[in-house]
Amino acid sequence: MPYNCTDCPRNCGALRSGPSGRGYCGSGELIGVARVMRHMWEEPCLGGQKGVENIFLTGCNLKCIYCQNHKINGSEDISGIPGLLFASPEDFGKILIDAANTDAQAVGIVTGDHYIRQIAASVTPDVKAAIKKPLIFNCGGYMKPETVELLRGKVDIFMPDFKYSDGYAAGCLSKAADYPEVAKAAILKCFELAGPAVFDDDGLMKSGVIVRHLVLPGRIQNTLGVIDELNGMFKPGDIVFSLMSQYLPLPGLVPPPCFERLTGPVSKAEYKKSKEYFENALNLTLGYTQDLSSSDPSYVPDF
Ligand code: SF4
Repeated sequence: MPYNCTDCPRNCGALRSGPSGRGYCGSGELIGVARVMRHMWEEPCLGGQKGVENIFLTGCNLKCIYCQNHKINGSEDISGIPGLLFASPEDFGKILIDAANTDAQAVGIVTGDHYIRQIAASVTPDVKAAIKKPLIFNCGGYMKPETVELLRGKVDIFMPDFKYSDGYAAGCLSKAADYPEVAKAAILKCFELAGPAVFDDDGLMKSGVIVRHLVLPGRIQNTLGVIDELNGMFKPGDIVFSLMSQYLPLPGLVPPPCFERLTGPVSKAEYKKSKEYFENALNLTLGYTQDLSSSDPSYVPDF
């Protein structure tokens, strides 16, 4: 049924009907599926040797100006995306089962913040039973706890970003100055639903929370603040923290006046300091860092 949406902190109240919506996320009532593809570069505890069968969704409630998935996140016209489809909950349930019936280690839903209601309706008990491998919910972290609650018992691994501890940067780059507080509450809710990280004997994650953070050039304090916040929120072994260095300036990106350093990659000194700070965070005992060579265009999915 069409509805006026207040599912995320934008509180647009926009009508979502069929495939279209006029809210900030640009998403309708149906789930926009841009592509289903195997992804080999997720954190090793997720994909192992076989990778994650990722389902990339259209639209976004953040639309960060540096987004690598800008071709599908609604910043541009998405109508020309090859294979684009709009799925009802029933159809999306079938897509999830098809993705699970591959040899992938896990199934991932990528950028689901603005489709939580629809994803929750898709993962019926029958669908959940048929998936038989970890279901990962990858999101930007800009979510209401009461909406995340809809995913209770339906998702095994939550993978929220924690992009900003700095509200100024969040306002400048994602038009979401309230992001730091919103994301903290959302991440705590994810942890309430998924519990402390659980791994099998091969080190593959079965359930829990992985928090990702992308280091941005010229904003080292933003990264150190994220680490401080998480270090204060959790105990050793609770969550996995993934510190990413793969920021790449998009071709033609014009940085906003409030954030002029976006035109180059993260410097070696910035990433070294971030890594050392993470390594000294006593409550963040599980995690990953990246080699700076990860900031390579070949890591960016082409839609
Ligand atoms: S999910 Fe989309 S339509 Fe709903 S409140 Fe958020 S931005 Fe608006």
